[in-house]
Amino acid sequence: MITQKLNADRQGINTAAEILKNGGVVAIPTETVYGLAANAYDEKAIKAVFKAKGRPQDNPLIVHISDMEMLNEVAEDIPKTAFRCAEKFWPGPLTMVLKRSDKISDCVSAGLSTVAVRMPSEQTAHKIIKESRLPLAAPSANVSGKPSPTTYTHVINDLDGKIDAVVMGAECTVGVESTVITLAGEHPVLLRPGAVTIEQLKEILPDITVDKAVLSELAPGQKAASPGMKYKHYAPQTETFLVEGENFADFVNTKQNALAVCFAEESEQIKIPKIVYGTNTNPETFANKLFGVLREVDKTGVKTVFVHAPEKSGVGLAVYNRLIRAAAFKVIKL
Ligand code: AMP
Ligand code: MG
Repeated sequence: MITQKLNADRQGINTAAEILKNGGVVAIPTETVYGLAANAYDEKAIKAVFKAKGRPQDNPLIVHISDMEMLNEVAEDIPKTAFRCAEKFWPGPLTMVLKRSDKISDCVSAGLSTVAVRMPSEQTAHKIIKESRLPLAAPSANVSGKPSPTTYTHVINDLDGKIDAVVMGAECTVGVESTVITLAGEHPVLLRPGAVTIEQLKEILPDITVDKAVLSELAPGQKAASPGMKYKHYAPQTETFLVEGENFADFVNTKQNALAVCFAEESEQIKIPKIVYGTNTNPETFANKLFGVLREVDKTGVKTVFVHAPEKSGVGLAVYNRLIRAAAFKVIKL
């Protein structure tokens, strides 16, 4: 298969919409990460998404919509709180798990009775959904297990020749996947942290709790509230450790054949090979660069990488959640 490279202009958007309407698979830019989109109502197209990514069949997809009418098509028994969250956070990086309608197949929801829905704010994504007049099921446009793509080059590196097209939009502004909450149970639960923070959510959902799997490994056989959380994720090939604590520079300076992924503030004190992944005073910068940096790590040829962990608050919680998985839960506390 030859993957078409489309510009993020009117013509590219029209072509992308046409391919999607005909059952094709197209990588599109969103504000979070690049998504691998297909018509949410077309089972054959959805199967092609799973195949291109090598995604396990039991990991459901997020359905992307462009207006509230589409929400009523894909979900049922929508609670009032969902509308309040939509008003405050949509379009934007919040995904809500709701009861699914009959239009959503087992294939999209991996057999669950729910569907995850999001309205992206990125204009190219918005226009492609609007133009195709289809809700688009879209996981991150990477090979399963690898860091999520935040540029179209990442997508091409992973999926060239395996998908119909890629829309060459801008670098993603957020850089980590959406916040996922479920409103389908008795109480709201945060399943995956993202740029919409738990602190912001509490303003509308004061009783929201954080699922255990956000910060710790599931016990063998334990059921995941969000199936994606049980899989290895975001991992470089190089053995990765997450390091918590203040004396990061002193710690890594004793290491050989290693790379430090550090804050800008401590970079000068670090004497081994290093990559700066943001400034500690502004954790949004970590989210921004995280996946690009994880893709760089393997190119350095070192044996071990030590990543300095951010605070677990605000967007830092999302970054920590991705890093602890990239490190396969190997955390060093200084
Ligand atoms: P990705 O497609 O890579 O952004 O991952 C989507 C995430 O949303 C995965 O962790 C899924 O397990 C989760 N997800 C999607 N649909 C549901 C659902 N119906 N219930 C719970 N989690 C879901
Ligand atoms: Mg993903």
